[in-house]
Amino acid sequence: QYILGIETSCDETAAAIIKNGREIVSNVVASQIESHKRFGGVVPEIASRHHVEQLTVVFDEAMKQANLDFKDLSAIAVTEGPGLVGALLTGINAAKALAFSQGLPLIGVHHIAGHIYANRLITEMHFPLLALVVSGGHTELVYMKEHASFEVIGETLDDAAGEAYDKVARTLGLPYPGGPHIDRLAHEGQASIDLPRAWLSEGSFDFSFSGLKSAVINTLHNAKQKGIELEAKDIAASFQASVIDVLVTKTAQAVDKYQVKQLLVAGGVAANKGLRTALENEFGKRDGFELVIPPLSLCTDNAAMIAAAGSILYEKGVRSNLALNANPGLELLPY
Ligand code: ATP
Ligand code: MG
Ligand code: FE
Repeated sequence: QYILGIETSCDETAAAIIKNGREIVSNVVASQIESHKRFGGVVPEIASRHHVEQLTVVFDEAMKQANLDFKDLSAIAVTEGPGLVGALLTGINAAKALAFSQGLPLIGVHHIAGHIYANRLITEMHFPLLALVVSGGHTELVYMKEHASFEVIGETLDDAAGEAYDKVARTLGLPYPGGPHIDRLAHEGQASIDLPRAWLSEGSFDFSFSGLKSAVINTLHNAKQKGIELEAKDIAASFQASVIDVLVTKTAQAVDKYQVKQLLVAGGVAANKGLRTALENEFGKRDGFELVIPPLSLCTDNAAMIAAAGSILYEKGVRSNLALNANPGLELLPY
């Protein structure tokens, strides 16, 4: 079984082919970061235009690297949402055109289901499991009792973790995307500044990062008024310590409550060195428990993860028709 995956939900144009749900045959990603950098964030219109230009290039390359023909493919999986509507539409229309012209099944995939299924390219999934999704637009704890059964047990009430990283980085005058810069600075500084941790109500697995972001801005502002020079590296270290503390503590509580066998980590913020170390310290040596953190290239947006999720949906008989539309606010529900 070969599944072609297409992903265009944000600022990466990607195509990939996965064999039998777990083996990467080809995985091509064209990033647009350079085009968006000078605007300090992703500009939706520019993203759509780039996708239109890059889609055929990326798709051709994925087919060429795989050395496969259309007749070898079992289905085409494409990100249906959430994401930028114009960006999503470019990938969906390409996938529809290919599915129609080649007579192949079409499968709409939830972007976050894709991020979670990136883990299946590393290891087999053992249920029940928990996925910690930390990306540019999402911070969620997802419980899965079996394949394609997604239950969101906690999510951010405001900013996503990655969004908070990018906003704090911007405040510190660092380039977009700011996550990697804060991560680097955090390792040079000391977590010496007292910043809040949003625990929310007792037993809640929800998150909130906008208060932390405001606290960073206020701390900088107050220090400036008093003529105190705060070091960016210490702000970065203190901010990162707060984010990691909340993420790891809540995840540990959820792992205990749901008695899961695996913790899968997903999304761009999983690239964070401090978070990876903290997760390894907390979950790395538990008996009968597996912590899975994919390599960086599978944490950020790619199409291999969409094909991996698409493969399970294909086996489950999930199919979309040619009326498939972009759904920017698509909810993550059991398929
Ligand atoms: P979503 O999947 O929710 O739609 P997205 O696909 O745009 O969002 P990803 O590509 O998964 O998000 O991740 C991008 C985010 O990851 C950015 O906010 C970026 O700053 C953050 N990020 C990347 N590397 C690091 C790092 N080392 N530390 C912290 N954050 C990081
Ligand atoms: Mg991106
Ligand atoms: Fe993503």
